[in-house]
Amino acid sequence: MKMYFLLSAFILVGSCAETKYATKIENLKGNITIVDSTLVKKYAATITAAALKENLYQFASTNFEGRATGEEGQKKAANFLVDFYKSHNIASPIADSTYFQHIPKSFLPEGIHASENVLAYIKGSEKPDEVLIISGHFDHLGIENEEIHFGADDNGSGSTAILEIAQAFKIAEQDGFKPKRSILFLHLTAEEIGLQGSLYYTKNPIFKLENTIANLNIDMIGRVDRTHKENPNYIYIIGADRLSKELHYINESVNTITTNLNLEYKYNEETDSNRYYYRSDHYNFAKHNIPVIFYFNGEHEDYHKPTDTADKINYPLLEKRAQLIFATAWQLANQENKLLMNTDF
Ligand SMILES: [Zn+2]
Repeated sequence: MKMYFLLSAFILVGSCAETKYATKIENLKGNITIVDSTLVKKYAATITAAALKENLYQFASTNFEGRATGEEGQKKAANFLVDFYKSHNIASPIADSTYFQHIPKSFLPEGIHASENVLAYIKGSEKPDEVLIISGHFDHLGIENEEIHFGADDNGSGSTAILEIAQAFKIAEQDGFKPKRSILFLHLTAEEIGLQGSLYYTKNPIFKLENTIANLNIDMIGRVDRTHKENPNYIYIIGADRLSKELHYINESVNTITTNLNLEYKYNEETDSNRYYYRSDHYNFAKHNIPVIFYFNGEHEDYHKPTDTADKINYPLLEKRAQLIFATAWQLANQENKLLMNTDF
């Protein structure tokens, strides 16, 4: 009898806690107010498949020799990014107006030459000290066995998406719609050799990490994996709910009113053996308790092969995915509150 009583009391407490938690989640979802939905759609539409294609064909061309960290081809790619920002009048965040964050040879693995991250930014109008980082690595494998590894998807797709996202924010700014928070466009080097560019940035941040509100990291968003050959309207979302469930729901809400991609969470499972959450640059931010989303199309038959070329990219799909990231970034940069962390919950 006693036993039963205790047990039922326990169940009662348990279910109360669950109800409370479910209510909190419902409230969290209900409290997300999408800002400027008409404007978001308008400026997302400035990101086009044609522009992505034009840039990506150059970025993944023979000229850049597969962009191996510290090599000539990568320097050319870095300059290509800088030229884009200069020609679109998008500033550098570094005081001496260089767009490069130099990483000395001593920081990098044995035999790798000095390299650089490329940074551009748009200053926030109301909360300039709070910074959203949109990142993607621009290095790749270079030349192996005398063959150029072009890295069109990995990560020419992410690199050119960031350029287009930056341009969309700039067009909005020129129309009088400056983001409330600052946005840093961060092109990282040395990812393929162990996430070194993001490690360097987080050890030498240009903006305080405690004021960095979130990191949206893009690594491979131009292709379709085997599972989705018949239904390519998808993107894998990794990490979004780990530190801030609000971030997860923002990404979902924004997707509903804009691109309507199928957001897939298979690789977000803690038990996933691929461990993608730990395998690209966002992880160096997550380590510092900064909420992240990793946008990823999954692996495909040309992954890390010389055959990862610009002609195999699905440009309309790349456009849609870049638009989703833009729209999520818009919300994060402009919504009233800073993201609610799971620990505040
Ligand atoms: Zn990559």
